[in-house]
Amino acid sequence: MGYDRPRLANIGYIQVVRHCNHLCGFCSNPTTPYTHDFASMKVLVDDFVARGYFGVILTGGEPTLHPELPRIAAYAHEQGLHVRMITNGTRLGDESFVREMAQAGLQLVHVSIYSVRPEIEAKLRGVEGSLDRAFAGIDHAHAHGVEVNINCVINRFNAGHLDENIRHFLRHHPHIRHFVWNNLDPSMGRAEVNQDQFTPRLADFELSLYRALRLLHRSGRTFRVEKVPLCYMTDFAWASTETRKIVKGEERIVHFLDDKQSVRQTDWEHIYADGCRVCSLRTICGGLFDRGNGYDPAELSPVFVDRDAIVAHILGDGSDPSYGVHTLAQWRERFDAPRPADPHGAPNVAVGRLTEQGRKRYEAKRKAETRRAQRLGIEMEREAGED
Ligand code: SF4
Repeated sequence: MGYDRPRLANIGYIQVVRHCNHLCGFCSNPTTPYTHDFASMKVLVDDFVARGYFGVILTGGEPTLHPELPRIAAYAHEQGLHVRMITNGTRLGDESFVREMAQAGLQLVHVSIYSVRPEIEAKLRGVEGSLDRAFAGIDHAHAHGVEVNINCVINRFNAGHLDENIRHFLRHHPHIRHFVWNNLDPSMGRAEVNQDQFTPRLADFELSLYRALRLLHRSGRTFRVEKVPLCYMTDFAWASTETRKIVKGEERIVHFLDDKQSVRQTDWEHIYADGCRVCSLRTICGGLFDRGNGYDPAELSPVFVDRDAIVAHILGDGSDPSYGVHTLAQWRERFDAPRPADPHGAPNVAVGRLTEQGRKRYEAKRKAETRRAQRLGIEMEREAGED
């Protein structure tokens, strides 16, 4: 028996700039010579609208450094997209900027905070004082009606106290209802060349992540976890971003402001260990994110839990009303069927521009960042074309 293909809550990413006012040693998207203006960003927004996407995430680099950010946010909002932004929070410390973005139509801001311990946050950010500005920014956003989520990259320096971070937010910023964890992506940018300093072992954070998720779950908050194999989060496997996208057949397009240009992600498989073959979660697990050889498949071990209970949890999640399949029988029929052809295919639009002025700014920025990186004891990312 057939059924209508459910409308999916696909969300696209536009990197509006690639420079930043912080210098994280594990940045996977550092400065490039590419630049965007309103016209080049508008094309990307229009493409998401044509695909029937639900929303757009404006990201970077640090997106708040783009002078036309309010204008592109307003345009995306007028086109009916849910408008979100990922930021390090520093510019949100300026309340007038937050007001401007809220008036432009920004609905949700993901504020990235790695650690509530000021000395750890300063070390990871490469700047002092960012934590207080981000905390102030969180409250400014809330005051202006912009929903706040917290994003956190799991790394070697915060791996042991992820639950301490959550206790802080529950106590001091109780309006925050949703948290996103990203295990460090060791495959690109400065993360690739500084793997030894920052990449955690999976076992380093297993317990503190479990405690953090349990605290959030008990307090009625929601959360997602990205790039963590399911054998490291079996009790909360339904919160894995990759697993939810595999179950629901969602895709994601990222418009990288670099030579990669547009990437359409429909395949969430990374790498697996031999033991994954017998694991009961293999068909819904994204495996180990290991493009950069930063993690070791020997850290994986098969689990024997009820896969369908995890699927049922995802199907019954009222926080995603866009997904139209609610019974396991319907889901199995769809999951086992060949994926229907996508009428849109991969995007074929230019992402940003390469200009002489952009190249000059990039060279000056790279020189300044190289000096800062030396002081901080971190390696600079390779330039395009460099081995
Ligand atoms: S053993 Fe492999 S398939 Fe099973 S949860 Fe771990 S990574 Fe996923």
